[in-house]
Amino acid sequence: MVQEEIRRNNVGTLLRHVHLGGSVSRTALSERMRLNRSTIMALIAELTRAGLVREELPQGTGRAGRPSLVVRPESGRAYVLAFDVAVDRLVAARVALGGIVLDRREAVRPRAGADLDRVVEVLAEFGRRLHGEAPPDALCVGVGASYCGMIRPGDGMVRFGPDLGWVDQAFGAELGRRLGLGLPVSVGNEAHLGALAEQQRGAGANLQNLIYLHGDVGVGGGIIVGGKLLDGDSGYGCELGHMVVNPYDGRPCGCGSHGCLEAEVGERALLDAAGRPAELFGRDAVRAVADDADRGDPAAQEALHRIGDWLGIGVANLCNLFNPGMVIFGGTLREIYPGMAAQVRARIAANALPVARERVRLRTSALGYDATLAGAAELGFSGLLADPLGVLARTAPCSARR
Ligand SMILES: [Zn+2]
Repeated sequence: MVQEEIRRNNVGTLLRHVHLGGSVSRTALSERMRLNRSTIMALIAELTRAGLVREELPQGTGRAGRPSLVVRPESGRAYVLAFDVAVDRLVAARVALGGIVLDRREAVRPRAGADLDRVVEVLAEFGRRLHGEAPPDALCVGVGASYCGMIRPGDGMVRFGPDLGWVDQAFGAELGRRLGLGLPVSVGNEAHLGALAEQQRGAGANLQNLIYLHGDVGVGGGIIVGGKLLDGDSGYGCELGHMVVNPYDGRPCGCGSHGCLEAEVGERALLDAAGRPAELFGRDAVRAVADDADRGDPAAQEALHRIGDWLGIGVANLCNLFNPGMVIFGGTLREIYPGMAAQVRARIAANALPVARERVRLRTSALGYDATLAGAAELGFSGLLADPLGVLARTAPCSARR
């Protein structure tokens, strides 16, 4: 029994290395897993027979000698469905091992209050279509979803989603029911998932201590310390957007407080600072401010500088608290950060302790708007990576479930 558990664990660990690395040599696997070459070869053989990896010659090897084979994830066999609920947008994708998006659907979400039924209807329709168009022998091994709010771990209940006006909505259970695939839907907070995705295959690849700030209407946060997400006592931690930076005359926040970071740097604050009319909103409106600033428009530049000052205060506090190796700006912050980087840096220099900030790197997200979707896909893959052969044995091919 113990032997069997060790083997299962090793098969899963090897698949995880290949899934995240994309292309890994036998030697590297042997070193990382501290297993001898013949054990590694036996594990690769099992995963190859299962259709999850393949071995091939590395790209770009010229003529010399016998190059050693690399192991790559196989994208035709197992996939997950990944969903992303952002304020403006609903996205669904079929994602293969290696994080490869095979197919996707996207819809604009009207800003229309608590609309669980509508959101689930659109996503479930997308999901069923993606599933229906998968090759007949492909296996859907999991479903993950990212949501812009506070999620109860375990059942995907949205406890609080101020930007969509959702309180205690059974999102994960409803989406699972409407998909009708007999698979549970794992749901996570968008910024938590974005942080993990950036750490797994983005700007913070392999860093153990990083902070991810995700701009949408508000600002979400994910903090990774010692390689692990800080999600708090009950899963609701890292609400960096509700860190108070301006308590005395701050702007009202969707959470009911005043002067929260997201109230001062979120979408409305930026558009107001840039003098944009109240009926303009959304990521395109935010991008337009960044573009105008790029072209030298003084009002847009001034707006970015003001917002950047508040953002810098927030990041300076985070440096003092967590001493991160990197702070990553994602979502709409990725669009506007370059125009306010000087203000953010100036605030950090003025307000963070020298030893807490001396090594911090400030970066924009490498995965862009897909960071949250990539994180949702990883949630979907977690079962397969824990027990690849067991999950395959328990999963019926797509053709049998249509
Ligand atoms: Zn708030």
